[in-house]
Amino acid sequence: MNNSDPALGTAIDAVAVACGVARAVQGDLDRVRQITKDDRSPVTVADFAVQAIIVMALRTAFGEVLIAGEERADRLRTDEHAGVRDAVIEVVRTIHAGVTAEQVLAAIDACDHDAPAEAYWTLDPIDGTKGFLRGEQYAVALAKIEHGQVVLGVMGCPNLSLDWSRPFDQADPHGAIYAAAVGSGSWQWPADDPPGKPRPVRCGTGQGSGPAKTVRVCESVEAAHSRQSDTQRILEHLELVVEYTHLDSQCKYAVVARGQADAYLRMPTKKGYVENVWDHAAGMLIATEAGAVVTDTTGAQLDFAHGRKLRANRGVVCAAADVHGRIIEAIETLGIAATV
Ligand code: AMP
Ligand code: MG
Repeated sequence: MNNSDPALGTAIDAVAVACGVARAVQGDLDRVRQITKDDRSPVTVADFAVQAIIVMALRTAFGEVLIAGEERADRLRTDEHAGVRDAVIEVVRTIHAGVTAEQVLAAIDACDHDAPAEAYWTLDPIDGTKGFLRGEQYAVALAKIEHGQVVLGVMGCPNLSLDWSRPFDQADPHGAIYAAAVGSGSWQWPADDPPGKPRPVRCGTGQGSGPAKTVRVCESVEAAHSRQSDTQRILEHLELVVEYTHLDSQCKYAVVARGQADAYLRMPTKKGYVENVWDHAAGMLIATEAGAVVTDTTGAQLDFAHGRKLRANRGVVCAAADVHGRIIEAIETLGIAATV
């Protein structure tokens, strides 16, 4: 792929290493120690170790950079979670042999950026932790933001097959990496062969692959993350025949980007929930550079200028251009965006 930003190569290398680490930890799932966070979501040894490894790679290449990343090390510093801490350090040392415990914890804690900034990185070390724990889909998602716009995005999908015939709930032995930079298109290659020979990724036309008017839609496995009844109302209103696919993580953006699905909807489930920048930055750019359109449920661009949260947005609609416009119109007609 043609791109003048040297940060892209660094990001791809870091994500490729992280995919190998995540895969190794997942191969030993019985030993994956986990902690339940305040919001009741799980966090594992892999989330912490991958965050530390990617931060170290960015700092080696660029010095002190601002990073908005999902995890923090406070719980790892407690006696209660000493077992998880030791396991995280052991995993990080498979990549950086001489690293100290404090260096690992400090690297995890370096992802606390939360303010408007000219440039910063977003990192979700294991997006879709529940998918990771089920042995299904998850993603390592890294992106760079400049002036509120995503300028590069890299997503490692260790269980996502380049072969579309493989079911999403089966882990692939190779996995896939997706990368995009503004104006340079979207690219993919096997996760165990970076940088290998990248192949261009193009979104479909929105017509679907089956009978006319069939639309292929991706949604979260977790019903709490997207109001599936709203998605159904929208598609019924459009009188489309729908094939649903449920999978965890930003892999959904990749599946639309490569034309295997026509739309990914994330309909708000509760009033107070605001999306995290790291759950969307990389995936959004990979989808848009492949020709898809990504906005929130009102049709507004995703705005990354507000720190850790997409404060100016509500939900997400990612789709082939034609389908996208019809979905946004339906949301407006049905008054859905206004109700949550
Ligand atoms: P997915 O795998 O697409 O369901 O997305 C996983 C992400 O959903 C996690 O990384 C969380 O940050 C995010 N999440 C947690 N609660 C919610 C919610 N109520 N609505 C939308 N996203 C959420
Ligand atoms: Mg996430």
